[in-house]
Amino acid sequence: MNKSIRKAAVIGSGIMGSGIAAHLANVGIPCLLLDMVPQDMTDEEVKKGYTPEHPAVRNRLATGAVAKLQKSTPSPLYDIAFADRITPGNLEDHLSHIAEVDWVIEVVVENLQVKKDLLSKVERYWKPGTIVSSNTSGISIDEMVADCSEDFQQYFLGTHFFNPPRYMKLLEIIPGMHTDPQIVQQMRVLGEKVLGKGVVLAKDTPNFIANRIGTYGLLITLQAMVEQGFTVEEVDAVTGPAMGRPKSATFRTLDMVGLDTFIHVADNVYANVTDETERAAFIVPEVMKSMVERGWLGEKSGQGFYLKK
Ligand code: NAD
Repeated sequence: MNKSIRKAAVIGSGIMGSGIAAHLANVGIPCLLLDMVPQDMTDEEVKKGYTPEHPAVRNRLATGAVAKLQKSTPSPLYDIAFADRITPGNLEDHLSHIAEVDWVIEVVVENLQVKKDLLSKVERYWKPGTIVSSNTSGISIDEMVADCSEDFQQYFLGTHFFNPPRYMKLLEIIPGMHTDPQIVQQMRVLGEKVLGKGVVLAKDTPNFIANRIGTYGLLITLQAMVEQGFTVEEVDAVTGPAMGRPKSATFRTLDMVGLDTFIHVADNVYANVTDETERAAFIVPEVMKSMVERGWLGEKSGQGFYLKK
């Protein structure tokens, strides 16, 4: 059984993956930060990218994420030089490096099938002893690894960080039905003693604890806004700084989370609970869906409820 995490691999270099990689770098754990080969590569770039001399284009998503980490404020990195502890790359070319790490963290888009496919790929290079976790906001831990071996399932669990990972103290740990209790304990100690988090153990129920409550609260607020004609600014004024919560005004939070991710997270409860009254509370208003269709995803696309300055 593995006792210490000397090196990690974070898969998915978006808002959360890059933030988690930065936090690992902050505490001295070097990590790979892997993303897809960009799907919008031009033919010329594809040609260049396939040669070992030109990996940059193929690594563009993850290298771009590290560059962003170095520029963001408040900084996800305790010291800007710690960015050197993060090695960006694309998953396709670096999958075999999974065999060299002690912890793999899956942080890709909130979609069950995408996560299942990815974890099956990871298992091909995984060696017993390496912990694998998911940062899912609420998808079933057991379902994600339903196609994997029982050996792999023993080392798999949910480690749900909150946004932004450097600053948010909460870490939900979600064991699956086959997770080895010693792995749960190891991650709990790592979360508290190394990563500086307050750990809450949650059951593998839709959206676990924080997002079951949090998503509900946000949707009720949205519903009230639509029905009562409140403005975004009015809602944020009474749910943010004036209430002593400088960083958590409703719509600023939604923009930071990502509207696309929020919809996936709300839909997950809607799809997985049977009680009709409870389900109804997780219906996402049309206005939000149409914003996502327009590409208004929040801070990551430059426009959400607010225009990013
Ligand atoms: P994001 O959209 O910012 O980033 C997702 C990244 O995954 C993208 O860079 C994308 O290119 C990459 N990706 C998608 N499919 C991939 C694949 N098959 N292989 C490799 N890379 C792939 O999303 P995010 O907000 O960082 O969310 C990631 C996960 O973390 C989700 O499960 C989400 O529910 C969870 N989460 C998000 C928040 C939040 O506030 N945004 C908070 C806690 C948990």
